[in-house]
Amino acid sequence: MKSYIKEFESMDKPSGYYTELVGNLESLNTELNAFNVINKELKDGLPFSVKDNLCVKGVESRASSKILKGYIPPFDATVVSRFKEKGFGFLGKTNMDEFGFGTFGTNSEKMARNPFDPAYTAGGSSSGAAIATSIMKYHAAIAESTGGSISAPAAFCGVVGFTPTYGVISRHGLIDYSNSLDKIGFMSRSSADTRIMFDAARGRDPKDSTSLDAEIKNTKYTKLTVINQLMDGVDKDVSDRFEKLLGKLEQQGFAINRVDLPEISAAIPAYYIISMAEASTNLARYTGFKYGAKVEDFSLSYNDFFKQARTNFGTEAKRRVILGTFVRSASVRSKYYNKALKLRAMLIDRMKRVLADSMLISPTMPVKTPRLDLIEKLTPVQVYSMDVLTASPNLCGFPHISFPYDYADGMPLGVQIVADHFQDHSLMSFTDKWEESFEYKFKHNLGEL
Ligand code: GLN
Repeated sequence: MKSYIKEFESMDKPSGYYTELVGNLESLNTELNAFNVINKELKDGLPFSVKDNLCVKGVESRASSKILKGYIPPFDATVVSRFKEKGFGFLGKTNMDEFGFGTFGTNSEKMARNPFDPAYTAGGSSSGAAIATSIMKYHAAIAESTGGSISAPAAFCGVVGFTPTYGVISRHGLIDYSNSLDKIGFMSRSSADTRIMFDAARGRDPKDSTSLDAEIKNTKYTKLTVINQLMDGVDKDVSDRFEKLLGKLEQQGFAINRVDLPEISAAIPAYYIISMAEASTNLARYTGFKYGAKVEDFSLSYNDFFKQARTNFGTEAKRRVILGTFVRSASVRSKYYNKALKLRAMLIDRMKRVLADSMLISPTMPVKTPRLDLIEKLTPVQVYSMDVLTASPNLCGFPHISFPYDYADGMPLGVQIVADHFQDHSLMSFTDKWEESFEYKFKHNLGEL
């Protein structure tokens, strides 16, 4: 089993290793926009990057939002301090869609670009984490997913993206998007490195009342389930390659099980209603007084003052404040928000039945990596529908992993495996085994740092 982290730890680093790394990253960053901040002081330890919605002590942390410009947290997020305790070295803050709102890395001041070809999307919202993992061999990325933000960019950038069971990793120090959905996770280039990062970060944290000290299970599943309805919206190029992969897995002794689960269509609407409702309350704290960009003119009227503060939100953030406030307002709450909560509970129940004796498998994204100029032409609802394969595990808090397995038109493709709650290690056991037999090769145009 390949571990780049272990290889790095036992390797003799040439003098000037970190200076050269930082210099190379700075020049690549002008094209790819992977980092919002690069730590020039890094001198020791395995370089780890942190998505910009996690607090790092003394380093500007602004979830790629203009409204948080200048916010410098006086503390580390728990997951960051656990990585530091392990001897890893902080490399920088990675670019993302503002507050996590997006699937393509286009909702940021600086548009993230795919390292395989900068005319294409890197995916989002954890765009920078995926780009950094794709261009750096010895590196660990801390990312975060609310509704697919680890899987999507990992798939488009050809790296491994792991989203743990909800609650297993402390969210203390996370700039919240949607508290009942947010999960901190990891990107790497191997299954073994995923396990190292997960084990270093997990466990109860008194600073996050929702964090758990759960027993993580390692089950050897031999059955993989495909939900037929999920495959309906998948592009042919993607589904053809996916079917080929299923054939190989069958040869390896896995039973492929195909089931109908029409209720799965509730996942996207329920996800967007709950996430926007929570986002709209979370964004209420950005008033121009306390964090980040300040409005200094106290002679302004109440409305003008907040208008000035909130012009710093990007278009997608404004859309979510409006829609999120609407769905939880008293007159329509039972029609939207309360109903979405019931749909989530129903879906958890239905999916757990399928997950009782198998793991789910699907492509990670329904399309091949899109070009950035095509994304600009999509409507918001078309963009939301790209989460069709990633919304359900996220909505239900199930651990899932996106693994690179093939290429289409020179761009990487990911496959996603989902397991029942607390079966996180089972996912890694599966990818360990698979990695040995598939020998996926990292390849891209930019060389390797
Ligand atoms: N694309 C989804 C959204 O915009 C998920 C993003 C995320 O996981 N942060 O909400």
